[in-house]
Amino acid sequence: MEHKCPHCGSEDTCLIPQAKHPASTLGGVAGAAIGLASIASGARVGATLGVAAGPLGVLTGGVAGAVISALMGGSAGYALGNIVGEQVDRRILRNHLCRECGAIFKPGDTPQLPGTVS
Ligand SMILES: [Zn+2]
Repeated sequence: MEHKCPHCGSEDTCLIPQAKHPASTLGGVAGAAIGLASIASGARVGATLGVAAGPLGVLTGGVAGAVISALMGGSAGYALGNIVGEQVDRRILRNHLCRECGAIFKPGDTPQLPGTVS
């Protein structure tokens, strides 16, 4: 959804992505950290499931559980970071560009249309 330019009233505006990538990276790092923290429990669950297959099952189950925990944590964190970054982009940063007059604004800026008296 695009927003009206508060300076000229044009609807020909676009979002300049700024926070999305750093926030996504941060989310990915945080997610990976959570994944690392859950490796131990993932390994334990995998090892428990592997018990049925004998000693080799315990080892492979444990490794598989650890890897799955790390991957899931990382991708979930990246997805969360992406969502947060997009919301920061849309609501907080002054990062909407008017293609008509070149003004940079954020949604909710007070309209400053020519001829309006405040
Ligand atoms: Zn404008």
